[in-house]
Amino acid sequence: MNPLNPLNPTPSNLTQGLTRLPAYVYDLDGLSEHAASIKSALRPELFYAAKANPDAAILRALAPHVDGIEVSSGGELTHVRETLPGARLAFGGPGKTDEELALALDLGVERIHVESPSELARLAQMERPATVLLRANLPLRTAGAALQMSGPFGMDEEALNTCAHTIAGTPHLTLRGVHAHLASGLNAPAMLDLARHIIDWALPWLEAHGVEDPEINLGGGMAVDYRSPESRFDWESYTSGLPDRPAKLRIEPGRALTAYHGWYVTDVLDVKTTHGETYVVLRGGTHHLRTPVTKGHDQPFTVLTAERGEERPATLVGQLCTPKDVFARDVPVPPLRPGDLIAFGMAGAYAWNISHHDFLMHPKPEFHYLDRSGHVAMDDDRPV
Ligand SMILES: *Cc1c(COP(=O)(O)O)cnc(C)c1O
Repeated sequence: MNPLNPLNPTPSNLTQGLTRLPAYVYDLDGLSEHAASIKSALRPELFYAAKANPDAAILRALAPHVDGIEVSSGGELTHVRETLPGARLAFGGPGKTDEELALALDLGVERIHVESPSELARLAQMERPATVLLRANLPLRTAGAALQMSGPFGMDEEALNTCAHTIAGTPHLTLRGVHAHLASGLNAPAMLDLARHIIDWALPWLEAHGVEDPEINLGGGMAVDYRSPESRFDWESYTSGLPDRPAKLRIEPGRALTAYHGWYVTDVLDVKTTHGETYVVLRGGTHHLRTPVTKGHDQPFTVLTAERGEERPATLVGQLCTPKDVFARDVPVPPLRPGDLIAFGMAGAYAWNISHHDFLMHPKPEFHYLDRSGHVAMDDDRPV
């Protein structure tokens, strides 16, 4: 049995209606159910970080189950506002331009997550009402994090104090709280530990600056384990462990919401053995699904069609002229031949939209959406 086979259950209609490979297939019903179950287990408000996957059909499937959307650029802002006209929006991210800040105010963004004193100064100069959370970069140790979000993100306490001072002297700006997205890839106990530290620091700081009815956005970064796809972030223990303190809490995960409901389906073009290593060359490549390269893992997959036979190790590669174009290395596969189908799972977040699509100018994948009505293709709706 292939240990990388995570797709239980693989939607039975995964390949139905595909006219061309490779194809991305999104399970919108599965996604809705997943988001609804997270939401029902959760006490904090739930915003979805659009950068994980801003696909319009995905945003629409999530919309009924989230409290709002977090966007990180003017492009995301425009796209999400068009796709979900009524959604509550928070605008974060480094290097916001004046044009983006003005757009945020034009489009009715509810919270601006300010990244620096100079960004705040530019916002103040616009002389328009705006409600802000200050993004804090706290010196907290986050053991076990896949990615530590320090460096250019957010502000230390000195810069936060400068911002609070600016806001106090700017009548059209309102300080509502702090935002802290400090690490990604944390499981529930580690995320909880981080949340407690953030809250313990933030509440006295906010009180000292006279913020009434404070909000604390605890960020995203809830773990997705590509090596063990069935182990999921424990939303219930996370929620029940959060302190019951006088602040409105909000989180903004991306990956843990959408990763599980996308597949990249493709077929075998060639099988070859070079210097004793077997390579399975697949149509497409990591210019469509960059996740295994960026995260350094074997992308979980299921072989959809193959002859019966003993499984042997092979390396699954794409069509790019670079040795980095590897989906999974030395993984057991049944005897594969050209034309056999493979579906890579966990391709619903940071997959298509983080990939370098134009490298080598191969054809782009098709996009398909599974929902209650069966199988719908909605290619035209998709942001490229
Ligand atoms: C990327 C990002 C998120 C979402 O992170 P996930 O790991 O996808 O949950 C949330 N907030 C901010 C500020 C981010 O940059």
